[in-house]
Amino acid sequence: MRRKRLTHAFAAVALVLGGLGVATVTVTATVTATASPAHADECYSWPRTLASGASGSDVTQLQIRVAGWVPRGQVMGIDGAYGAQTTAAVTNFQKAYGLTADGVAGPATFSTIYALQDPDCSPAHFSYAEASYNCGRGFTGGATEKENMKRALWRAEALRHQLGDHPLKVTSGYRDSTCNASVGGASNSVHLTGGALDLVPGDGATSICSIAKQARYAGFGGIFGPGYPAHDDHAHVDIRSSIAWDADACAGW
Ligand SMILES: [Zn+2]
Repeated sequence: MRRKRLTHAFAAVALVLGGLGVATVTVTATVTATASPAHADECYSWPRTLASGASGSDVTQLQIRVAGWVPRGQVMGIDGAYGAQTTAAVTNFQKAYGLTADGVAGPATFSTIYALQDPDCSPAHFSYAEASYNCGRGFTGGATEKENMKRALWRAEALRHQLGDHPLKVTSGYRDSTCNASVGGASNSVHLTGGALDLVPGDGATSICSIAKQARYAGFGGIFGPGYPAHDDHAHVDIRSSIAWDADACAGW
């Protein structure tokens, strides 16, 4: 958010200076250097550049945010160890956002993440609230469920970008046992942990099947869509660590 405000402010300056004959290129270069301080973000700021071999809680924070960019069929191990999987995810993230794709998370990568995250650490295009309907009961979970929700939402943010930045709606997210039972959820549903989302298109550019199919490239362990019982009207995605996918009524599944 803060980065966007800075960008707009400097864009206005560039316009004024442009009218005075000052080279806009020079001003733009200044903006880039000014807009990426390490401590600009309200949610979390990375203190150092991270690369293969790094370890620590800052790696964990990075892994949560790029977990939707692992290769197909993988689920990010959020373990604080920057290995081949994290390198691949960072590289894919960088490619997707037009950055130098070197698999090293430095200022440009972090700036892009800062622009994507809200002060409450949810990703820009999803909120905890929309994943907390819980049959009208609101969020009744604890810190673990909230953390799982965050991890699912960041993968949804990746999925949304992969689908061309078209909006996706969450029709069900976290469910407590009372809500889960009332909607006929499985007794071991990942919704109970906060780590599952039921998604539908937010506009006419995507379909339930396109969501389910693309989710295979967005780091989701569980994917259930059309063809799986009771999943014709939404795509269920979740952060389980194993692969369990079924949407075989979708063409090209
Ligand atoms: Zn579901």
